[in-house]
Amino acid sequence: MALKSFINVPADHPFPIQNLPYGVFSPKGQAPRCGVAIGDFVLDLPMLVHAGLLTHRDADLRTAFDSPSLNGFMALGKQVWSDVRRRLQELLNEHTGVLRDDPSLRSRAFLRRDSVTMHVPSQIGDYTDFYSSRQHATNVGTMFRDPDNALLPNWLHIPVGYHGRASSVVVSGTPVRRPVGQTKPGEGPPVFGPCRLLDFELEMGFFTGSGNPLGHPIPLDEATDHIFGLALVNDWSARDIQKWEYVPLGPFLAKNFATTVSPWIVPLEALEPFRVEREPQDPEPLPYLNGDPQGLYNIELEVAIQGSGMKAPHVVCRSNMRHLYWTMAQQLTHHTVTGCNLRPGDLLASGTISGPEPESYGSMLELAWRGTKPIAMPDGSERKFLQDGDSVIMTGWAQGEGYRIGFGEAEGTVLPARQV
Ligand code: CA
Repeated sequence: MALKSFINVPADHPFPIQNLPYGVFSPKGQAPRCGVAIGDFVLDLPMLVHAGLLTHRDADLRTAFDSPSLNGFMALGKQVWSDVRRRLQELLNEHTGVLRDDPSLRSRAFLRRDSVTMHVPSQIGDYTDFYSSRQHATNVGTMFRDPDNALLPNWLHIPVGYHGRASSVVVSGTPVRRPVGQTKPGEGPPVFGPCRLLDFELEMGFFTGSGNPLGHPIPLDEATDHIFGLALVNDWSARDIQKWEYVPLGPFLAKNFATTVSPWIVPLEALEPFRVEREPQDPEPLPYLNGDPQGLYNIELEVAIQGSGMKAPHVVCRSNMRHLYWTMAQQLTHHTVTGCNLRPGDLLASGTISGPEPESYGSMLELAWRGTKPIAMPDGSERKFLQDGDSVIMTGWAQGEGYRIGFGEAEGTVLPARQV
């Protein structure tokens, strides 16, 4: 029989008992702490430890959950995540009583989600961004280089990535100011001013667990054990700044002004039923990267834009996480093969996830094909790139039988550039 909670959760709701994503929240006027989303509520995890309901390693859990980030819990490792998840499913189950039958405890342990403030879920020490969708890399290569040789020679051998900026990762709902910077229009000299080609990038990111000591790579068959869970990522991009600055060392300021993450981290265990086969990799990757054939997940992804004059968001992109070429485990193994150490709470993002259909392209650059195919909006306006006042809303979910593993949303509204 299907797992069900005593908390009423409709079938199309993102946060049923099968999901139980982790986040960091603060009730009005109180310090941030860790919680789990169930239906329209947040379950206060320090409160559960305090009430004696999470007894497994309770000293560790007390410290880990009564904290403004999930890093402590992430550091405890896969076995603890699994034990706590099983216990939470017991406590929330429709048939088991303690939380269900104690009204006083219930009123303290559950807070309405719309009454709390959400925070970036981990203190992100390092943020890495990959470039792992073949369609996205092909589209960009076609637009800017050579349609017949769109992929660079390394792309099918290496999960290409770069070290991003962790300090400007913000939680959903945080406005994003249009950056200013240096661009080079046409053949003229470089100029300084507001970015004119502001874009979103539809990505999924994963947060790392216990990590590895410096000098000790994580082999591919252990990589998944180091993944705590997944969230939605909008890797905002200033295309005109990027075009001028990125040779030869890659993107720099075009990517460092903001990255939006959804507040709820969906545990990898909740996504197990949604694993799918990745496409065969040809040429075969080198042995250290060769494997993880079931390393992708069937997660539907959507991007909507709501302009300041629009009554409702308009969906501009429908994609799926399964369109990635390199899996998260391959990305993680590649990242550490030199001995580079990952720490609990690091963020590794997939790169823009574009599928084969034009409506599945995960950025404005591709959707409007470098401005040549503007997108018509319901209010009569059109978009080549993002305008001031545009709210970009990313959502994602895996559809189960009678339930949904949802990711909530990663939303950000574009503010006008500062005066220069
Ligand atoms: Ca990116």
